[in-house]
Amino acid sequence: MRLVAVKEMAEKFTLKMIYRDSYDLELFLRKVVYREDVRCGVCYGIRLKTVAQEALNRGFRTFTSTLLYSKYQDFNGIIEIGETISKGYGLDFYKRDFRIGWEDGRKVSREMGFYRQKYCGCIYSEKERYLNEKGSRGQGVKDSSKNTRTLESLNPRTQNNDLKCSCSNP
Ligand code: SF4
Repeated sequence: MRLVAVKEMAEKFTLKMIYRDSYDLELFLRKVVYREDVRCGVCYGIRLKTVAQEALNRGFRTFTSTLLYSKYQDFNGIIEIGETISKGYGLDFYKRDFRIGWEDGRKVSREMGFYRQKYCGCIYSEKERYLNEKGSRGQGVKDSSKNTRTLESLNPRTQNNDLKCSCSNP
């Protein structure tokens, strides 16, 4: 659904896009199982490495992430991880606080009728969303800032090579 919404938006605003509509669920699960509480740092690393590899393959010098737009993500953690990864790939990580457009973005997306997902993206966040709907626990979209701090697993020098070019939605 998100991908469909992004494609609709790109068409509407005539944006050039590069799509990678695959998601390596097994890789993600292998890396977060037994440490689910810090899963977001792992998730950021997988996503940003995927983007960095794509940037490198295509001859770009700089990469960034829409994760920097979300008020629910760990902004400083993303920057820290992005910079660590950028060094490993010899690229620049573009840092900007896109959260200043958060409210406008919500408003415009509603007005334009785009799909708005009520959970962050992984199966854990989806579970938390449903538990929340039942009034059990959690937030609709979990504050991911509490689930980071796994930099040791993101250092390109110490990480499995399979992470460098693996598939995940950036
Ligand atoms: S809650 Fe969001 S950022 Fe955290 S692991 Fe799940 S999809 Fe990734």
